[in-house]
Amino acid sequence: MNKLKNKVAVITGANSGIGLATAKLYLQEGAKVVLSGRRQEALDAIVKDLSGDFITVLADVSKPEDNVNLIKEATNKFGKIDILFLNAGIAPPTPTNEITESHYNEIFDINVKGPILAVKEALPHINDGGSILFTNSIVHQKGFDGLGVYSASKGALRAYSRVLTSEVKSRGIRVNSIAPGPIDTPIYGKMGLPEDVVEDMGKGFAQQVPLGRFGKSEEVANTALFLASDEASYINGIEIEVDGGLSQV
Ligand code: NAD
Repeated sequence: MNKLKNKVAVITGANSGIGLATAKLYLQEGAKVVLSGRRQEALDAIVKDLSGDFITVLADVSKPEDNVNLIKEATNKFGKIDILFLNAGIAPPTPTNEITESHYNEIFDINVKGPILAVKEALPHINDGGSILFTNSIVHQKGFDGLGVYSASKGALRAYSRVLTSEVKSRGIRVNSIAPGPIDTPIYGKMGLPEDVVEDMGKGFAQQVPLGRFGKSEEVANTALFLASDEASYINGIEIEVDGGLSQV
């Protein structure tokens, strides 16, 4: 239970789904954790379920000043950072003929600009030998109707992570990504779609997955633990699919 003993981890999108499951696991494994999210009430609501050494920080990753503040609060409290997990993201679907500039800007601001600016702020404070993780998605490997801008944002993030892997090599910082398939998290309820449409979409996804089901946040968190831990000490620059095999068939 001490795979991350005394490590400091900063996690964005930590009040829900994959980020929250990872924060809980990191705390169990001895890490000091900064949980960040953009809704104060959601952050307040999770505190009672957490134990260990942690703080919560309100930060909208799409706002440069919030990324500055997030890293400042993290380092004020815990000093250096060992693990930076850029996980916050949104996935509202829109078919190409209905894409608007604001749809594009919202997704790219949160899914691409946010993590890139957070990395920039955090880098001077990340210990040599540290670990940077991105939550990406398998959507940039396959075509899912209506997810054009979302898929483009995750493809952009993957491209960025390769460059970052090279840029931080002299410091021994490892950069890896997780590409979830369909995972049962609140993200589906935030897509702006009627409940029955979401349900049908979910059934459709599950049928395509070789394992025949949605994944759990905890299954992604296990991968986030592995990649951040010393067990993955020679794993660098990759993207691991946690998708029940969906991207491979
Ligand atoms: P979720 O909705 O439960 O969590 C998303 C988190 O991101 C929330 O905490 C939310 O508050 C936060 N967030 C959104 N916009 C933000 C902003 N502007 N600033 C700060 N925080 C913000 O969903 P999840 O499924 O746990 O999503 C986590 C990541 O996993 C996302 O990057 C998503 O794209 C990715 N992903 C999810 C799935 C899936 O099927 N659930 C599949 C592939 C990839």
